[in-house]
Amino acid sequence: MAHVVFHEAYVAAGVPASHRFPMGKFKAVAGALVASGLVPGWDAFHRPAPAPAAWLQLAHDPAYVDQVLGAAVPSPLARRIGFEMTPSVALRSQCAVAGTALAARLALEHGAACNTAGGSHHADAQGGAGFCVFNDVAVAARLLLAEGAVQRVLVIDLDVHQGDGTARLFEHDPRVFTLSVHCEDNWPRRKAVSDMDIGLPKGIGDVGYLAAARAAVDDALEACRPDLVFFNAGVDPHREDRLGLLDLSDEGLAAREAMVFDACLKRGAPVTGVLGGGYARDLDALARRHALLHHAADAALRRFG
Ligand SMILES: [Zn+2]
Repeated sequence: MAHVVFHEAYVAAGVPASHRFPMGKFKAVAGALVASGLVPGWDAFHRPAPAPAAWLQLAHDPAYVDQVLGAAVPSPLARRIGFEMTPSVALRSQCAVAGTALAARLALEHGAACNTAGGSHHADAQGGAGFCVFNDVAVAARLLLAEGAVQRVLVIDLDVHQGDGTARLFEHDPRVFTLSVHCEDNWPRRKAVSDMDIGLPKGIGDVGYLAAARAAVDDALEACRPDLVFFNAGVDPHREDRLGLLDLSDEGLAAREAMVFDACLKRGAPVTGVLGGGYARDLDALARRHALLHHAADAALRRFG
């Protein structure tokens, strides 16, 4: 039984299909999971309630939280985020954060669970950037740490872009270990300092990428010994991605997702999967690519659960 979180509000209204950010992909991913039979029907998704301001303030400046929830984000900051900051975009962000927190609770209960959104890793305490409004992983980690549900958290960020917001948020927090494996010659140009950064060269391809990612994941698990893992499974390292550059195939991504779940579950560390980036123009292909995460979680639970 796959444990998957979805909310209709993940698709914010008023973002045109021509926008660089493929807003429709969240529903397309959920649809692909239902179509494949992994999730038996639309009623079978776990559905979060929007995250309250108190949760968002665990990772973000209260003034910024107020601006987003009041649809009053100053335009220079909205331009840095890349969306018109409407009430619909605010609700979408609250639901995505709560979805990652819910998936984390499900992961603690079952061993693995995934959101069909999340991975907004460029947002930091001061504000959002690069299509990221609230840092869902950071809020969920801080929430579960505050509740005493976990003591040590590992963030495995395999999106093609560095998880700079997450790195800055946890730079001085020894309870959270941040690993980012990304393309070095890619946005953000100015990198933050994660606990472990692996900057890969353009066009590395499946074999080189998987070897580097596997070694990094093993080292990070050894260094952190987490009781909860967040896995940002951005599919933008794919060769057809508009913002990618690492030249991975679908098979390479599938092998990557399996590798992460196996490495963590083998050590008894529960995994929360979040979507991360993915910007291919073919929405169906993109949805199927993101769904590799959820299929990998299910397959790993069958092996280790
Ligand atoms: Zn990305």
